[in-house]
Amino acid sequence: MADQQSSDRRKAERHKARQQKVKAAVDAKIAKAQIEKGVLLILTGNGKGKTTAGFGNITRAVGHGKKAAVVQFIKGNWPCGERAVLEKVGVEFHVMATGFTWETQDKEKDTQAAMSAWLEAEKLLQDETVDILLLDELTYMVSYHYIELERVLTALRNRPPMQHVIITGRACHRAIIELADTVSEVQPIKHAFDDGVKAQLGFDY
Ligand code: ATP
Ligand code: MG
Repeated sequence: MADQQSSDRRKAERHKARQQKVKAAVDAKIAKAQIEKGVLLILTGNGKGKTTAGFGNITRAVGHGKKAAVVQFIKGNWPCGERAVLEKVGVEFHVMATGFTWETQDKEKDTQAAMSAWLEAEKLLQDETVDILLLDELTYMVSYHYIELERVLTALRNRPPMQHVIITGRACHRAIIELADTVSEVQPIKHAFDDGVKAQLGFDY
C-alpha cells in the first residue's frame, strides 16, 4: 500500500518535471516569435477539409472585426453555404463564372472566366484595407495554365505586408509553396465518397 503510494508520487513528480521542461521550451519559442506580418497560407492535398478550413480562417477574422474577401476559382453546380452566411456580414465575394473546369471543354471560355476572377483577386491583393483574402481553388488555375504562375507570384509578393492570404486546392505549384509561410497538406485517410456516399448539402457544400 505504502509502496504503491510512493510509486504514484514518483510518477506524478516525473510527470511534473517533464511538463515543466515542455513548458520552458514552448515559452522560449513563444518569446522568440515576435514578427507580425501577413501570412501566406496554403491548404493543399487530396483529403477533405481545405476549403472549409479556409472559410474557418475567414470567419475567425470576421469575428475580430477584420475585413475579409473571397475569390472562388471553381464554381460548383451547388450553392456555397459559407457564402450565404459571410456575405451577410460584409465579406466581399467574387465567383468565377463557369462550372467545374473539368466539366467544361471550352478552353477559351474557361481562360476568360479565370482571368476575370483573377483580375478581381489582383485588385484585392493591392487593397490595404483587406486584412484577409481567400483564393479558393486557385491552384487549378495555375496547373491548367489559365493564369500565369509568374503573375500569381508577383501579385502575392507585392501585396500589402500585413495582408493574410489563403490559397486552397490540390497539387499546389512548388513555386507557390516556396513563397508561402505556412503550408498544410490534408491527407485522405478515408473518404465517404469511396463508399458511394454522395456530396450532401450542408456538409460538402
Ligand atoms: P471541403 O470543401 O469539404 O473542405 P476540400 O476543399 O478539401 O473539401 P476539394 O478538393 O475542393 O475538397 O473537393 C471539392 C468536393 O470534393 C467537396 O465536396 C469535397 O467534399 C469532395 N472531396 C474532397 N476530398 C475528396 C476525396 N478525397 N474523395 C472524394 N471527394 C472528395
Ligand atoms: Mg475545396
